Amino acid sequence: MNAEPTSICVTYGFDDKRIRETILAFDIHPEYGDLAERIRREVIGDKVEELVNACFGVLARFREFSLIEPKLDVSVFKQIWADQLRRFGQGLGTPDYFAERLALSTTHAHSGLSMSVLHLQNQITQQILVERLIACFLNAPKTIWILMPCILKFTALDLHLTIKGYHLNDCEDQHKEIEELRVESAKLLQKVATDQLTGVMSYSHVMEALESHVNSAAKTGKTLCAMMIDLDFFKRVNDTHGHLVGDIVLRLTAERIKAAVRDFDMVGRFGGEEFTVILANADMALAMIIAERIRQDVAESPFHAKGHLIELTISIGVAMLRPGETREAILERADVALYEAKQEGRNRVVVAEDLEQAVSAQESNG
Ligand code: GH3
Ligand code: MG
Ligand code: MG
Repeated sequence: MNAEPTSICVTYGFDDKRIRETILAFDIHPEYGDLAERIRREVIGDKVEELVNACFGVLARFREFSLIEPKLDVSVFKQIWADQLRRFGQGLGTPDYFAERLALSTTHAHSGLSMSVLHLQNQITQQILVERLIACFLNAPKTIWILMPCILKFTALDLHLTIKGYHLNDCEDQHKEIEELRVESAKLLQKVATDQLTGVMSYSHVMEALESHVNSAAKTGKTLCAMMIDLDFFKRVNDTHGHLVGDIVLRLTAERIKAAVRDFDMVGRFGGEEFTVILANADMALAMIIAERIRQDVAESPFHAKGHLIELTISIGVAMLRPGETREAILERADVALYEAKQEGRNRVVVAEDLEQAVSAQESNG
């Protein structure tokens, strides 16, 4: 039991200084080593099994213990208890003394014994040792008074270490649980952030990303563009080839869009057959180049899905963030541009600014 117990001491913070301080706090002096030896020899002696059985009989009367008893290996439990008694107070002051008790507490905690049962076990041991001490030295009360504090202090120290071990064990379990929850919630967040069909960002994630991009563009004054993309006559794909083929086409379209944008551009699905792209640090000239690239990629190469060759086009509306504009407003303008692209015959890119210029030109002419 050498390497591991020492490491348990380190894990649980029982370095040499703390061990010394703990022994001092329980007012256990070096001569207690000899007294403990007398207790082992004259009080416990060869009565270990007898004492453990008596202790066990008392413990078994408690309802809390009887509930856990069927799940315990009672013979091992008694054996450990006997071993503890046989080595009562032995090796005090050494790291092993502390490590063994901390390790035992951990073992018990893992086997499902509650803190209160361990507490009871300790109290019963103390009581039975005191009774046996009195029985042994009925005719020598002075010896009783000499050995009694040794029993009380050692059992108190053992209880202290049991509680420490148990709590630290609980903390460790809680840390593990928290870590598991953290991993689980990270997975869930990832799931929520991703559109399950296409693997691009989900609607809520895109909206969050757009919010932070709008805020940072407002601070830095850098340009920001947003695109709304909609598949043309997509209903026909479903009607002709079925919904599953439609799903594949949606996935392949998302891949084409991702391949056509820059690495750091954000692609999201707005539900249905609509996608959006957020282009940070892009002015309208650049956004147009990227939008045209996406449109051409889709229009020029048909999709292969379940043995079908499917020709498809897309329409795109593009808007550039205006000073003080909200994320909703820029998307709204991109959406109006998209609508215009549909109206003009689909398979094209329309810029929100062009529309506004056209409207204001019309107004000034009229
Ligand atoms: P338009 O050019 O005007 O956009 O025509 P469209 O047919 O694309 O537009 P419409 O809004 O009439 O139809 C969109 C279709 O997209 C209808 C719907 O069944 C299909 N769709 C929406 N979400 C999904 C999906 O997750 N999977 C599949 N396979 N189809 C979807
Ligand atoms: Mg459509
Ligand atoms: Mg649509």
